[in-house]
Amino acid sequence: MHRGRAARHHVLVLRQYELVERVRRYDPDADEALINRAYVFSMQAHGNQKRASGDPYFSHPIEVAGILTDLHLDDETIATAILHDTIEDTLATPEQIEKLFGPSVARMVDGVTKLSKIEAQSENERAAENLRKFLLAMSDDIRVLLVKLADRLHNMRTLHHIPSPEKRRRIAKETMDIYAPLAERVGMYEFMKEMQTLAFKELEPEAYDSITKRLAQLKEGGGDQIARIGSGIRLLLGRHGVEAEVSGREKHPYSIWRKMAERHISFEQLSDIMAFRVIVRDIDDCYRALGLVHQRWPMVPGRFKDYISTPKRNGYRSLHTSIIHNEKARVEIQIRSEAMHAQAEYGYAAHWAYKMGRDDGSPDSMGWVRDLVEILDHASSAEELLEHTRMAMYQDRIFAFTPKGELIQLPKGATPVDFAYALHTDLGDQTVGAKINGRVVPLRTQIANGDQVQILKSKAQQPQPGWLSFVVTGKARAALRRFVRHKERDETIALGRKFYDEIVGRLPAQLGKDALAQALKRLHLHDEAALMEAIAKQTIDDAAVMEALMPGAGAADVAARPLPQRDAISIKGLTPGVAYQLADCCHPVPGDRIVGLRRPGEPVEVHAIDCPTLAESGDDADWVDLAWGDGSDGGAARLTVILKNEPGALGIMAGIFGAHAANILDLSLVHRDRSFHTYRIDLEVHDVTHLARILAALRAASVVSSAERIRVEQPSRQAGG
Ligand code: MN
Repeated sequence: MHRGRAARHHVLVLRQYELVERVRRYDPDADEALINRAYVFSMQAHGNQKRASGDPYFSHPIEVAGILTDLHLDDETIATAILHDTIEDTLATPEQIEKLFGPSVARMVDGVTKLSKIEAQSENERAAENLRKFLLAMSDDIRVLLVKLADRLHNMRTLHHIPSPEKRRRIAKETMDIYAPLAERVGMYEFMKEMQTLAFKELEPEAYDSITKRLAQLKEGGGDQIARIGSGIRLLLGRHGVEAEVSGREKHPYSIWRKMAERHISFEQLSDIMAFRVIVRDIDDCYRALGLVHQRWPMVPGRFKDYISTPKRNGYRSLHTSIIHNEKARVEIQIRSEAMHAQAEYGYAAHWAYKMGRDDGSPDSMGWVRDLVEILDHASSAEELLEHTRMAMYQDRIFAFTPKGELIQLPKGATPVDFAYALHTDLGDQTVGAKINGRVVPLRTQIANGDQVQILKSKAQQPQPGWLSFVVTGKARAALRRFVRHKERDETIALGRKFYDEIVGRLPAQLGKDALAQALKRLHLHDEAALMEAIAKQTIDDAAVMEALMPGAGAADVAARPLPQRDAISIKGLTPGVAYQLADCCHPVPGDRIVGLRRPGEPVEVHAIDCPTLAESGDDADWVDLAWGDGSDGGAARLTVILKNEPGALGIMAGIFGAHAANILDLSLVHRDRSFHTYRIDLEVHDVTHLARILAALRAASVVSSAERIRVEQPSRQAGG
C-alpha cells in the first residue's frame, strides 16, 4: 500500500468519505463526526496554501492521516494528524482546537507542534542522538510520536518537489539521523525502511541508482529465484512437521549499501541480498526450524544471532542466520513466531496485545490499537507509559534548552543551578536567578522536559551554600563544595583578624614593625592567614598570641576573650555570622521547612516554605535554602483556639500549656459570642513535635472546640486582632 502511493507524484487528496471509510473498516465505532469536523476545519484553515509540489497544502495532513490508517490508529489520532499543522501554519488557535475537538486531540496537536518547533532548531549534527532521546521523552503520548513519524514519512515521499538541493539534503540527513532510528526504536520497521530508502536516494543518488539497477538485473537473470528458494524452505520444514509461512524479499537498497560500506566489499561480493522470513507457531518451532535449515544448508560462520534468548533493546525477538543456498546465493533467514512477528511489524502495541492475551494473532486486528489507547488512558503518568513502552531508559533524563536553542541533557530533578553549572562553572558561580519559559522562578525549581531556561547572572554574585540541598548534578555539587570550603576559610580568617586587632589593642605598648613576623616564627606558623585561622578556631589562646607578639605581655593579660555563645537556634545554609530573623508573618518553629529571603543590606528573613510572602517577594530578593541546625530549640508559634463559653475554660487551656512546659508569650481575645470565645495565642515551643503534642492535648479537652496553628494570618483576622 505504501509503495503504491509513494510512486504517484501528484497525489489526489484523499476524499473525506474515503478517509472515514478507511477508519470504519477497522473500527466500526470510530467517531465519524470528529474526523469529518477535522477534515473541514483543516481544509478551511489551510485555505489556498500550496505545497512545493503545487498540490494544495491540505493534501499533506490528509495523506499523513491516510498513512496512520494503515496502522489502524484510533479516531483521535487520525483527527490529530489532519489538524497537525494548523497551529503552526494557519490562524487556528489551540483554544479553537480544544473547543471543537476536545482536550485529548488538542493536547496531541500541541505535542506535534512542539516537536516541529524543536526540529527547526536542530542544526547541530552532534545533537542528533540527544534529539532522538528528546523526541522520545517528549512524546509522553506515543500517538504524538506516531503522528510525527507519519508526518516526516509523507514529507520524505514528497521531498523531490522541493527545489533547493541544500534543503532537500538537510531534510534527508535529519531523517536518516533522527527519524529513521526513532521509528526503529519504537518498532515501526516499515516506516524506518521507507524513510531510509528515500533519504538514501537523496543523499547518495549514484549509489542508490547503481544498487537498484543491479537488483533489477539480478532479478531478470535469476528468474523467480526468490519464489523458488522460499518454497524449498517451506517444503523442507513441512516434511518435518513444522508448519511455516515463508516469505522472501530483496533487502532494501540502503541496507545493502550500508553492508557494502561497513565491510568494504563490492556488490558482487555481497551475496546475501535476499532475505527470507520464516514465521512459525511458537518458540519451540523456531529452534526446530533453525536446526532443520542448518542441517540442510551450511551456515555462514559469524552470522547467527539469537535474539530470542537475548532480545534487542527495543524488544525485538527473532533468530537470524545466513546460509549458503547454492554456490552463488547466500541468503539471510529470520525465524520467528507469530507473536514475535506481530511485534516486529507493529511495535510495542502488538507486544501488549499478545501479553494481554486479547489478540487473535492476526496483525490487522484492532486489538493492539485498543490496548494501546487503553494503556494511554489509564497510565496515570508519563512515567508509567514510558515504563510500558520500554522507553524507560530515558525516564531519568530531561532535556532543556538554552535561549539560543542548545539542548542540555540533565538528570531528572535538575534545577536552574544544575543547568548553569552544566553550561559553565563560571556561569554557575555567577547565577543570581533564572527564568523558565520566560518567567522568573526560584532557583530550586525543578526543570521540566522541554523547558527553555535562561540564567540570570551577576559578576558580584557568589554561589550559595544552601544550593547544595537541591542540586542534583555532580558538577554543581563539586563546584559548590569547593566554593564553600574556600569561603569558610576566608570568613574564618576575617574573623581571626578581628580578634587579632582586639588582642593587639590589649597589649601594653605599640607593636614593632617586625613583631608579627617574629611572632609567626615563634609560633611555627608559616603565614599570617594561618595565625588568623588559629585565632578564630581558638587552637591558640590569646595569651599565647600576646606572648609571641610581645614576650612577657601574655601572662599579664586579664581580659580573656569569652568563648562565643552557642545560639539556641541555628540555621544551616547561611554563612556563619550572617544576621537573620524569624519572620513574624508565618512564625516558623524548628521542624518547619524554611526558606530565607535576602535583600541587600538587610538581615535574612526566615520564612516557612508555604508562606505567601515568599511568592510575593520581588526580584530584589534572593531565595536561600535553609534548614534548622541540629538541636535547634525554641520558636514562637501562633495558635487560634476556640473555647466553649464555660466557666474555667481559660484556666483549663492555660493548664494544658503549663503541663507541656510551653510559655505563653501573648494571648488575646479575638472574638466572642454567646457560645464561643476565640483566642489568639503566641506560644513558645521547642519545635513542631512539641507543638503537635500541645495541639493534640487541647483538642482532647472537652472545653476546646478547635485548636489550630496559624501559619499565615488572613488579613481580616489581622484587622480584628
Ligand atoms: Mn506536517
